Amino acid sequence: MKVDRRDRYRRAGPFPERHRTVVTGGAGFIGSHLCDRLLQRGDSVICVDVLQTGSMDNIRALLNHPKFAFQRHDVREPLAVSGPVDRIYNLACPASPIHYQRDPIGTLKTCVLGAANLLELANAKGSRILQASTSEVYGDPEIHPQPEAYVGHVNPIGPRACYDEGKRAAEALFFDYRRTHEVAIKVARIFNTYGPRMLEEDGRVVSNFIVQALRGEPITIYGSGAQTRSFCFIDDLVAGLELLMESPETVTGPCNLGNPEETSVEEIARRILALTGSRSGIDLRPLPQDDPKRRRPVIDRAAETLGWTPKIRLEDGLRETIAYFSLRVGQRKDEVNVANIESARARRRSPRSHDVERAHT
Ligand code: NAD
Ligand code: UDP
Repeated sequence: MKVDRRDRYRRAGPFPERHRTVVTGGAGFIGSHLCDRLLQRGDSVICVDVLQTGSMDNIRALLNHPKFAFQRHDVREPLAVSGPVDRIYNLACPASPIHYQRDPIGTLKTCVLGAANLLELANAKGSRILQASTSEVYGDPEIHPQPEAYVGHVNPIGPRACYDEGKRAAEALFFDYRRTHEVAIKVARIFNTYGPRMLEEDGRVVSNFIVQALRGEPITIYGSGAQTRSFCFIDDLVAGLELLMESPETVTGPCNLGNPEETSVEEIARRILALTGSRSGIDLRPLPQDDPKRRRPVIDRAAETLGWTPKIRLEDGLRETIAYFSLRVGQRKDEVNVANIESARARRRSPRSHDVERAHT
């Protein structure tokens, strides 16, 4: 039987209960995919966002859905929601270095005040709450790969501190609300995630390189390009978030969610140039301060407690992301765009993908 790739985790994790769920940052890249998924499984979703780095475009298709509501709100202020709330996913925070460093004081407040306000809501409503934490809590790691037990190597006064330390403080608040008020918490440490609905001007490496390649502009490699990241496709990540949220209450995390396939920035550039057929050159730029040199998650905890491992290969995820940006960038339509979309679709239907799906259902 043929199985659509997007059914993979739905079939692997049947969650019969329907919840009333708040998603903060729900108009952002990850948040909008999460809203899609929760609605698909029958939840009612209240999407809360101040539209700083998110976009109404990401959730426009959901606005007429009877179980979807959008609330424009800044999580730095207390959030009032009438009626019961079963689940809260706290994703509100700019995630790209150029965006979170633009207003660093605002970012730190979003991390800390946002977490405190949502934990208060969870405590008042008896909700389960999940924090979108980050691999940045490990800073520029001294051990490799990074397990959850590693306490990190973060510069507390550098330009990334507003985000890194903000997310670390948010984790501390989550565990203190559990110890003090017995709030049912979940902490996901998300590693670099990519896919459709990233902003064209997002500034992160995958979206930057794809947009540059499609426009025929130079690919901006910061530093030598030898630094590494491990890239997880959005569908895999959203499945992991849902599995963590629905895991037994004793499972609090922190739990790494990411793809352990490690790739250098130079290699990512090379692959994107090949997949787009672009003739863009390379523009070497200075490495930003405190840019982590290596990053790869240990995902044993997610594998053992959630039964989660990422399924989507980098090449397939890149093809799908390129197909998305091809339509938005709107260049070389006849060549790159159509070819990429067709090959992304074909890969979704390929026998190899179905074999992988069956192995996990
Ligand atoms: P994103 O920038 O696309 O989404 C963040 C959303 O939060 C946006 O819609 C933005 O408008 C909203 N937001 C920001 N400040 C807000 C505030 N004060 N009040 C209400 N809404 C606010 O980023 P993303 O990649 O979707 O990341 C989502 C979450 O996941 C973030 O918390 C981020 O730290 C975390 N995360 C993401 C990655 C990744 O690779 N994408 C990695 C680690 C952690
Ligand atoms: N990077 C790059 N060129 C770009 C954007 C990013 O070389 O146009 C590098 C960046 O210096 C870092 C890596 O790619 O080493 C990942 O950067 P990103 O901003 O995507 O995520 P983060 O640094 O937060 O992991």
